[in-house]
Amino acid sequence: MPELPEVETIVRDLQKQLKRAEIRQVTVVRPDLISGSPAEFKKRIEGCTVGGVTRRAKNIVFDLGEDRLVINLGMTGRVTVLDRDAEDPPYLGVSFELTDHRRITYQDVRRFGHLEVLARDDWNQRSEKMGVEPLSDGFTGDTVFRLSRKRRVAVKPWLMDQKHIVGVGNIYASEALFRAGISPLVAAGRLTKKRADALATAVREVLREAIEFRGTTLLDYRDARGEKGEFSRRLRVYDREGQPCVVCGTPIKRIVQSGRSTFYCPHCQK
Ligand SMILES: [Zn+2]
Repeated sequence: MPELPEVETIVRDLQKQLKRAEIRQVTVVRPDLISGSPAEFKKRIEGCTVGGVTRRAKNIVFDLGEDRLVINLGMTGRVTVLDRDAEDPPYLGVSFELTDHRRITYQDVRRFGHLEVLARDDWNQRSEKMGVEPLSDGFTGDTVFRLSRKRRVAVKPWLMDQKHIVGVGNIYASEALFRAGISPLVAAGRLTKKRADALATAVREVLREAIEFRGTTLLDYRDARGEKGEFSRRLRVYDREGQPCVVCGTPIKRIVQSGRSTFYCPHCQK
């Protein structure tokens, strides 16, 4: 599932590729992927100019003037900019034909993704209710410390709970806890201020590095150019069960927390 660095990579690609792009025609191949009727969806998008592309949590947000087109990739969604004449990608869900011989395609094998057009104010209201952005100035050790008070849940699932902090999923939660030297089993509410500081730093660091390497591809993720992310090779614990810890050589352990695999070093993480 794409997490913050993967979505951010796609958004940065789209920003460059779609400067002032004008959407001429929309084709909805899979109506179950969009909110509302295909006719309404088309009507609100056709003729609009893309004023910008940004990210909020794991959402890709197209500025269409009065409206916002919000895309959530779910598990396997992909957004790609293609030549208009290029063949349809497999599992095509929606195609946005531009006025300049290109088109934006949304494809999704498993169809957990979602596309929605919202009025700007409605989107802003929804956005305000989401958790804090870990790469924003508002995210510090104080934030982690304050949000985690009285939380009995283990810190790994807590970190992945989008109500508090957005964009950190299974991969980067494991990686950040390793870098901070914190066991994934520690209750979030038991973190000291010093450890909360270390965790905030580690979260920012791992996300920034992952963006620099254009995200992590385990299976499905591709950027807006159709390329795999390079951060996979730099993962220190995730998906490395039984392999030696890069710091101490202890075999990396895998456990299941809230139905998801957690990878950690039992020696380095306390
Ligand atoms: Zn270790």
